[in-house]
Amino acid sequence: MPLIQATRYYANTTKNQKTVEYTVDKFPGYVRHDHFKKLSKEDVEFFKSVVGDNGYIYNNEDDLFPFNTDWMNKFRGKSQLVLKPKTTQQVSDILKYCNEQKLAVVPQGGNTGLVGGSVPVFDEIVLSLQAMNKIRGFDSVSGILTADAGCVLEVLDNWLAEKGYMMPLDLGAKGSCHIGGNIATNAGGLRLLRYGSLHGTVLGLEVVLADGTVLDNMSTLRKDNTGYDLKQLFIGSEGTIGVITGVSILTPHRSKAVNVAMLGLNSFEDVQKAFKQSRSELSEILSAFEFWDINALQMFKKHATPKAVMEQEYPFYVLIETSGSNKDHDDEKLTNYLEKMMTDGVAQDGVVAQDETQIRSLWSLREGFTEAMGKEPAVYKYDISMPVNKIYECVQDMRQHLKDGGVYGQEDSPVTDVVAYGHVGDGNLHLNIAAKRLDPKTSSLIEPYLFEWVAKHQGSISAEHGLGVAKNEFLGYSKSPVMIQLMKTTKNMLDPNHILNPYKVISNF
Ligand SMILES: Cc1cc2nc3c(=O)[nH]c(=O)nc-3n(C[C@H](O)[C@H](O)[C@H](O)COP(=O)(O)OP(=O)(O)OC[C@H]3O[C@@H](n4cnc5c(N)ncnc54)[C@H](O)[C@@H]3O)c2cc1C
Repeated sequence: MPLIQATRYYANTTKNQKTVEYTVDKFPGYVRHDHFKKLSKEDVEFFKSVVGDNGYIYNNEDDLFPFNTDWMNKFRGKSQLVLKPKTTQQVSDILKYCNEQKLAVVPQGGNTGLVGGSVPVFDEIVLSLQAMNKIRGFDSVSGILTADAGCVLEVLDNWLAEKGYMMPLDLGAKGSCHIGGNIATNAGGLRLLRYGSLHGTVLGLEVVLADGTVLDNMSTLRKDNTGYDLKQLFIGSEGTIGVITGVSILTPHRSKAVNVAMLGLNSFEDVQKAFKQSRSELSEILSAFEFWDINALQMFKKHATPKAVMEQEYPFYVLIETSGSNKDHDDEKLTNYLEKMMTDGVAQDGVVAQDETQIRSLWSLREGFTEAMGKEPAVYKYDISMPVNKIYECVQDMRQHLKDGGVYGQEDSPVTDVVAYGHVGDGNLHLNIAAKRLDPKTSSLIEPYLFEWVAKHQGSISAEHGLGVAKNEFLGYSKSPVMIQLMKTTKNMLDPNHILNPYKVISNF
């Protein structure tokens, strides 16, 4: 079926080969496991016979660079080979061979992941799904879409828009990320509050296992209680137990009436009040509730010009989206809610988008923080979840902790800012610590301090980005020893030679 191109591409344009260090030089401690074979000319000949002359990149540093380097320019591997299969059978042939030969593989989607999971650490072969980008089918009665895993999220959303439907998830990287990558990371994003997690909307998956076996679980059923729900295991598995090649997903109707408002508030206490009230006043039409602090806004302004701003600055902002089927009804509800927020003194100021362009302007501000942070010389990025009332306590505590440690607050401090934004409705904070450079003292002040803080408050050290290489050693802060052991047993069973995304998520070596 014809595809509409994505309108945005969020690859980090400041990538420069010469300035991006290799992961193993930057983070010494990784050791290439000698159980993995080194790629030979014969191997490359075999892969050529599978994917054809246009289906691979070999030994060309310039062309390999974007596949070896992550979106943040923080992690860089040394792969000599990228494979771009077009069919599930080709993926199966590749993995069967890699498993027999003990060649390590990194599955890669749109390469927008933020924890270094999508790029090699050493010389692992990159298995890019970008050539598997066909829509397989759509049922306009049930709203169930089936597609190849390499379809770009925004392309799918644009395609569905013509049919009156939409993808149940949305995120700032939608112009580049793949639906397969979204599922492999269990991406949350901006509308989880309304449409729930991928554990609920994904109905079926086609997955190629490490030994090349194709697990065809492309169910289009909403109800199926026959034994273990195997697809759930692959949602959030970050390419470590199988390569997702096909997806069956439930898509909601596109709302006829969408409203977006932005409020300026004086305290995080008020942010919580506004959220609580939005749930009762806006209830079934509430589709997003996002927050950011003044530091995030200033960071955005440093690197871009916001199209939507209020005259005065406030310590906190929230973006509220409603989606419904009756504009008059939704307008009335939103107006009543906003009036209440202003008269009760919860919000100090507010703007409501008047048309589609203004809606996009407001969203582009919220979606632009990750990109703005990416333009800083160095960033320590954290994606944590916890009870909503603890979110800003965590930020303030970290600021104080870094000041006490002597790395923040002075002109010559290595840390330049501590920025907070996130999906308040999901208790999800994106804590970003901008710095002049990555340095061991700052790193050791942040980690494991932050993870201990999160664990103490019954939070998760990774709410939606996953573990990759950035967070894998801290898994014990969020999962018990019994759980970790069961994960290792599962990994050993599904990938006994550990060829899939080694050095990531859980270490079995
Ligand atoms: C500007 C920006 C905004 C973002 N906003 C959000 C957000 O709001 N919420 C959120 O959750 N994330 C967000 N992210 C992070 C990222 O976009 C998501 O994690 C996304 O789901 C990754 O998809 P991808 O196709 O780029 O996967 P990649 O980055 O290519 O890969 C991510 C992981 O999945 C594995 N993988 C990829 N494809 C497959 C496959 N087919 N089979 C098996 N494993 C696979 C990789 O091995 C890797 O471990 C954002 C990133 C950016 C740059």
